[in-house]
Amino acid sequence: MSQISASLPLLGFAAWSGTGKTTLLEAMLPKLVERGVRVAVIKHAHHNFDIDKEGKDSYRLRKAGAGQMLISSRYRRAFVTETPDEEASLPELINQLDQTKLDLILVEGFKKLDFPKIELHRSEIGKPWLHPEDKNIIAVASDIGAETDLPQMSINELDKITDFVVSFAKEGLPASLSCDDVNTSGMLSVAEGRDKILSQIVAPTASQHVKLKQALGQIVAADILSPVNVPQHTNSAMDGYAIRGDDIERNSYTVVAQVMAGHHYDKPLQQGEAVRIMTGAPVPENADTVIMREQAQQNGDSVTFDLSMGAIRQGQNVRQAGEDLALGQPAVTAGTQITAPELGMIASLGLDKLSIRPQIKVAIFSTGDEVQHPGETQKQNCIYDSNRYTLHAMLSKIGCEVVDLGIIEDSEASLEATLTAASEQADLILSSGGVSVGDADYIKTVLDKLGQINFWRINMRPGRPLAFGQIQDKPFFGLPGNPVAVMVAFLQFVEPAIRKMQGMVNWEAPVFNAIAEEKLRSRLGRTEYSRGTYGIDANGRLTVKSTGKQGSGILRSMSEANCLIEIVPEQPSVDVGETVRVIPLVNRI
Ligand code: AMP
Ligand code: MG
Repeated sequence: MSQISASLPLLGFAAWSGTGKTTLLEAMLPKLVERGVRVAVIKHAHHNFDIDKEGKDSYRLRKAGAGQMLISSRYRRAFVTETPDEEASLPELINQLDQTKLDLILVEGFKKLDFPKIELHRSEIGKPWLHPEDKNIIAVASDIGAETDLPQMSINELDKITDFVVSFAKEGLPASLSCDDVNTSGMLSVAEGRDKILSQIVAPTASQHVKLKQALGQIVAADILSPVNVPQHTNSAMDGYAIRGDDIERNSYTVVAQVMAGHHYDKPLQQGEAVRIMTGAPVPENADTVIMREQAQQNGDSVTFDLSMGAIRQGQNVRQAGEDLALGQPAVTAGTQITAPELGMIASLGLDKLSIRPQIKVAIFSTGDEVQHPGETQKQNCIYDSNRYTLHAMLSKIGCEVVDLGIIEDSEASLEATLTAASEQADLILSSGGVSVGDADYIKTVLDKLGQINFWRINMRPGRPLAFGQIQDKPFFGLPGNPVAVMVAFLQFVEPAIRKMQGMVNWEAPVFNAIAEEKLRSRLGRTEYSRGTYGIDANGRLTVKSTGKQGSGILRSMSEANCLIEIVPEQPSVDVGETVRVIPLVNRI
């Protein structure tokens, strides 16, 4: 099940009934309010509750058929929505809250869903611990000790529990109460993760010669030196008349020839002579000045110039030989990606072949018994594989060849076989799924056996779990399973690695600043990537807002976005009007 996420800290309480959840919350809420934390509570009820009384106007109107009833006064408002068909999901309920007026959402109930929870435990209830089963439990409050590495508090020390909740709301978890699963100290920042990866990626040495058009999108292996001067000859930048620069004072000149582009006048130009010349045609020997046709009046063999339209300056309107590029100068440097201007420029040098880096071959596969091929009939509790498709697209976009190894069942044998095959066929291996805390340990066993792998937790959202290492010297990335997390992790970690393997030097994705049009939430210390749309507002300023729902499984948020909004670790939130970093996705995905 995917982690429930909100743009605010979301915290629940897991307990058996009778433990006193509501009583504890009731006692804690005034303390939270006192400490300036703006809290919403979402409570799950199993029974058919009514919040207003029989006979009240709102009750009567609702019973008469208002599917949604909103009643408001100076003091409060209530929104009662009938849900006869299906109960609202927790994400839907979260979306009903005005998150701009909150710092924390506390949840009572929904205990089967994935979001961070504190376990409340009283020995007198006589029930088992919940944290061994529920990986979402981040701390335990009890009247006895638990055998766990999770942070523990006494259930009777309300102030300690409140401290924990306040720290959670403000900056994730307090260091003094941290555990390995949830603290930030064992985590890498996005930049640290990328640096570690790049330090282990080796730049290429191999190269191959290809025809010009085949080089489009590929990376140049060695500096391309100009074999010629560009332009080849000093030539006219205008249609007009070429004269000698030491002969500009004269009233009229004798036109001795007409030179079209692709031809030349083969005699040195003398004093008093002019040559009628077309744009791009080489100027004759001794001539270095061109007067545009609009200024000229030709009568038979004689031409005069209208100086009221502009005085003649020696050297005007000519392009010098080698002015764009001199013989022997690098036209395109090694590591450059060939796009339209490079392709045109190399062609302009007369070259029809060049040396490029070999295309990078990337093997991809998906993991998970719940993952199915599109086109199959959907099975109960299964999802269709989207990750191999987004990865295929992003890899193709950056010029890689994709080796698609399909979906691998959750077993040691198939994973081992697939990874071995991948390392033989490809230069880089990418998998998705199965690297979260609590996922099957066989992945770690197999990776440990086949190579050098580190399991990292990156302090970012989405995309926290990431495995990186080598299998038979081939770089391997174990990406998270959630579809948006896969794309974000690809853009932030895999693409920089591939760019280096392709031979690009210090490649960096473009980033710019924009003004936030809405309040954006993050958490101190964490990098938050929201999917956004940027644009120009009525005042001509570059602004950005997030796309709709931001769950890490919601690919539609990526589809609607034209950028990622990057809220850096130092920024716990961004207010309307503040500046925020924007990573454009145009042309990247
Ligand atoms: P995991 O990291 O394997 O626990 O996966 C996290 C979430 O991503 C789960 O909800 C998975 O069902 C989902 N998921 C994993 N692999 C894929 C895939 N190839 N396509 C779409 N969703 C996936
Ligand atoms: Mg999985």
